[in-house]
Amino acid sequence: MKNFKRSIAPLLATLALTGCATAPDPASHSVPSDKSIQMRVDKASAAAASDLTFLLPLCKAPAATEPSPEEINKVIATQIARPAPPPMKVFDNLYFVGAAWSSAWAIDTPEGIILLDALNNQFEAAAVIEAGMRRVGLDPARIRMIVVSHGHGDHYGGVPYLVGKYKARVVMSDLDWTMTETKLDFASSLWGAAPKRDVSARDGERVTLGGTTVTLYLTPGHTVGTVSPVFDVTAAGQRHRVLLWGGTAFNFGDKPDRLKSYIESAERMKTIARQQGIDVLISNHPGWDNAVQKMNQLSKASSPHPFVVGTPAVERAMTVMSECAQATRDRYAIR
Ligand SMILES: [Zn+2]
Repeated sequence: MKNFKRSIAPLLATLALTGCATAPDPASHSVPSDKSIQMRVDKASAAAASDLTFLLPLCKAPAATEPSPEEINKVIATQIARPAPPPMKVFDNLYFVGAAWSSAWAIDTPEGIILLDALNNQFEAAAVIEAGMRRVGLDPARIRMIVVSHGHGDHYGGVPYLVGKYKARVVMSDLDWTMTETKLDFASSLWGAAPKRDVSARDGERVTLGGTTVTLYLTPGHTVGTVSPVFDVTAAGQRHRVLLWGGTAFNFGDKPDRLKSYIESAERMKTIARQQGIDVLISNHPGWDNAVQKMNQLSKASSPHPFVVGTPAVERAMTVMSECAQATRDRYAIR
């Protein structure tokens, strides 16, 4: 017994120093350095495991210089030219009607359709959203509401066309309405005009149509007023809860406040995902949720449902984004 006590004493001392609840996080308490950056990247890579590696480009070092408007236009033109993936009914009440670069999702309800984002311009709105909806048996004339995740043209560009045709209401955050009315983060001649201010989403606001409630969380970072919708879907008799992360890339440059907001948003949504049992994570770009590969899988077999990744995976995705944002913050800090 005496020996046991003696042998456990150093162990207890070590535990007291390194216990999870109280141990300082070296990276968050140290000055930004190559070491702190590597620590964040390692944490993100560990959280990404093998199923979320499509998020890891977030951890790459940002470009040394900001791209010119011409360079941005060239990239956008190349992206828009990519052929759209086939539209698809992904859940009983959720359809992918997006393009190769930007996504649009349609939530179908008995009283109409809630469209999540509207692609780059009227041509995509017609050829991809309207035509895609018809291909999967949805009537675009039933679009009642368009939720715009954030004020970048690859998400709002098709809105004025659809509003002109179907008189849908448009929901965006107040801050992003103001941004699109005053100074755009990005402008491109390839994008449709910004929509006229309509409904402003408040944090946690619930919008309901035909029995489906979409909760709109403000998750600032990618833009000052990014909105991330959360809602229920069903498949094979099972209910699932979906988070559409409203803005993913850190394409705003060296803005520590924006990265701070992003980190706080990702950490907050991690908690909400756990509390609400969110088990599906989608994006407004197929590159950020692997939607095309998942739809290919779904077309071959509906079980297990490739979009139902489980709550721990949704939490891990939030960790990847938070850790990569922290790595990016530190990279700018030591430049
Ligand atoms: Zn954006």
